[in-house]
Amino acid sequence: MGCDGGTIPKRHELVKGPKKVEKVDKNAELAAKWKYCALSQEKLRRPIVACELGRLYNKDAIIEYLLDKSAERPNAEAVAHIRGTRELNLTDNPEWEGERRNAKGDRYEDIHCGMFICPVVGLEMNGKHRFCYLQTCGCVFSDRALKEVKTEICHKCGDPFKDEDIIVLNGTKEEVDKLREKMEEKRAKAKTKVGFNYDMETFSQLHPCLLHYPQWLPQPSPLQPVTQTLLWF
Ligand SMILES: [Zn+2]
Repeated sequence: MGCDGGTIPKRHELVKGPKKVEKVDKNAELAAKWKYCALSQEKLRRPIVACELGRLYNKDAIIEYLLDKSAERPNAEAVAHIRGTRELNLTDNPEWEGERRNAKGDRYEDIHCGMFICPVVGLEMNGKHRFCYLQTCGCVFSDRALKEVKTEICHKCGDPFKDEDIIVLNGTKEEVDKLREKMEEKRAKAKTKVGFNYDMETFSQLHPCLLHYPQWLPQPSPLQPVTQTLLWF
C-alpha cells in the first residue's frame, strides 16, 4: 500500500474511490431505462410502447409528440423513427408495490424492483435480465424463456411469430446498431414499393410493356392500395 512513508501509491489505488461511484451511477442509469419513457423521461405507465430499436415509451408521450407541430420539439434527432412503435403486452409483477415511504415519511422506490415480469419464467424486468418483445403481437418475454422454450407460437397470446420478429429491449449498442440497420433496410424496401406505385412513367420507359402487363410488377402492384407502405413515413 502507498502512503506508509516508504512507497509511492499507484494510480489505481488513488482513483479507486471515484471509480466505484461511477459504477453505481451506471447501474442506476441502466435501471432507469426500464422505468422511464425514453421520450418524455416520465415514469413508464400503461399503455407502454416500444420502438423498432427496442426503447420503451409511454404511448401518450408518442401521440403528443406526433401531434405537436411546433418546430422546437425535444429529442427530435433521437426519436425520428418513433412512428414504427408497437404497443406492448406486459405481465404485471405481483411483487411490485410502487412507491413506498421510509420511517421518516420520505417517498422512495426500489429502483431494482421491476414493474413487470416474464410470464413464462417469472424473471423481473428490472434491467438485470435480457428481455425481448415480439413485433407481431407486442408480448414481452425474457430472453431466457424464448431460448429455453423454442416455439413459433407466442407463449402469451398464441399468435405465430418468426425469429426476425423478436426485438431485444434496451439492448447493447451493437444490438441497437443492428436493429437500426434492419429498420433502415425495411424502410428502404417500403420506399421502393412506393416508387413502383408512383413512378410508373419512369418505370415504363425502362420496360414499356409493363404498362400493359401490370401483373408483372413486383408486389404490391399499382392496382393495390398503397396505404400500408405509406405508413412507414
Ligand atoms: Zn403474443
